Amino acid sequence: MYQKINACIRAAIDTYEKTLPFKMWKEPILGIISAEDEGLKLLREVVSSTHLLPGDILPGAESIIVFFIPFQDSIVESNLHGETASREWALAYIKTNDLIRVINDDIAEMLRREGYAAGKLPATHNFDTERLVSDWSHRHVACIAGLGSFGFNNMLITDQGCCGRFGSMVTSLPVSAVPEAAAARPPRERCIHKLTGGCGACRKRCPVNAYGDGGFDRRRCYAQCLKNGELHKDLGYADVCGKCLAGLPCSFRSPE
Ligand code: SF4
Ligand code: SF4
Repeated sequence: MYQKINACIRAAIDTYEKTLPFKMWKEPILGIISAEDEGLKLLREVVSSTHLLPGDILPGAESIIVFFIPFQDSIVESNLHGETASREWALAYIKTNDLIRVINDDIAEMLRREGYAAGKLPATHNFDTERLVSDWSHRHVACIAGLGSFGFNNMLITDQGCCGRFGSMVTSLPVSAVPEAAAARPPRERCIHKLTGGCGACRKRCPVNAYGDGGFDRRRCYAQCLKNGELHKDLGYADVCGKCLAGLPCSFRSPE
């Protein structure tokens, strides 16, 4: 089943890329965890008191499928300079969100044929625009699944770096039916700052100094993202920035 899910993701990427003028994505990373995983119980403490649990999305939930779709290096490099997000970065954000919708549909259909149900979640824009917190954090779920560890910039560093997007879905597929899931990646620290106190390159790259001494200023960050959304509105809705992801030792790989 692990191979079938991976094949769904790979096929969706290959099909989608045929509609684009250039290659947008690298090799995806897949994780599957039990809907009863102990780590999930902390989401309401760590992310938000209103964070959903698997059973809120799919009654009888058994597992969560979570994946990371890394951007091609050229997209990341396009976002190195200037204060506003590059067009390539904005386009990659929009197209990857749509790709994740396609992947979720394809996996759900494959699971349905195998006799399992799926509760799908949007790739983004599932957050409260007042509190600026999400009621389902793909990144935190990916962290629990061992796909990566959080960096000094609050982004998740995977073995393919931090530049890309996460998707996840809740299913009735028991993890016991996916033996490979048991070999989930054990958690490990990847961020240089967290390991040694050094680096810090990510925070220095923020054009609006959102990582101030008083902690992360969500509103300042979101205001910059909205500015980029306005700048690139001809492409679609791209309220992103990503300056604190590009040009780092952890952009394309785990630096530890
Ligand atoms: S740039 Fe350095 S400090 Fe920031 S997340 Fe990456 S490794 Fe950690
Ligand atoms: S996304 Fe942009 S505005 Fe937000 S913290 Fe990172 S660099 Fe700063």
